[in-house]
Amino acid sequence: MRIDIITCLPRLLESPFSDSILKRAQEKGIVTVQIHDLRNHSTNKHRATDDYAFGGGAGMVMMIEPIDNCITQLKSERTYDEVIYMSPDGELFSQAIANELSLKGNLIFLCGHYKGVDERVREHLITREISIGDYVLSGGELAAAVVSDAIIRLIPGVLSDESSALTDSFQDGLIAPPVYTRPAEYKGWKIPDVLISGHGAKIADWRHEKSLERTKKRRPGYLRD
Ligand code: SAH
Repeated sequence: MRIDIITCLPRLLESPFSDSILKRAQEKGIVTVQIHDLRNHSTNKHRATDDYAFGGGAGMVMMIEPIDNCITQLKSERTYDEVIYMSPDGELFSQAIANELSLKGNLIFLCGHYKGVDERVREHLITREISIGDYVLSGGELAAAVVSDAIIRLIPGVLSDESSALTDSFQDGLIAPPVYTRPAEYKGWKIPDVLISGHGAKIADWRHEKSLERTKKRRPGYLRD
């Protein structure tokens, strides 16, 4: 998979991809993540990527030209499955969308800033809009990093134990059960006995029961009839 992220603040995206699982996924060659500085695609002599809003009002608007230049260049190099604009009013991101996008080959994420992008970008240059929740961030970079992380960890070979992603919350319609590690007793707080019983089937039953309990309590809407 290849992910191209277009931003006017590339530094914001350096650290999310340079540690742990996302770093290893790139080192293993499973995913390529390229960050594109919009300013390099500006034809303006100050390399500006934003301008005042027509009609007035507070806040700058990201200009269409640098965005179009960058997307056009990328599209001339390869075909993309989706050109996604990160937007607070987009489709609400979910595990189901992460699953769907993890099967794609090439994705572009466009990060907005300030008041957002010139509306013509949304009308003509992108194929999809994704929000990570009903709140407003100052830029799309963190949102693009969140979505990329959720997608990349699902690609086979990225997690060392492939079954791990399948037992995470939301993946099978259930919230994950509680987990514990050593010591088995801390300040008098004990772990459930069944987990050290060595009885695989009983442990599996306990986990399933706890998953159901948690789902009913925390996300009843996820329970299938
Ligand atoms: N004026 C816009 C908000 C702009 S916020 C409005 O009221 O809808 C600046 C940028 O941050 C957006 O262009 C978008 O790329 C990003 N952003 C903000 N909140 C987001 C969210 N919840 N999910 C995804 N991207 C978000």
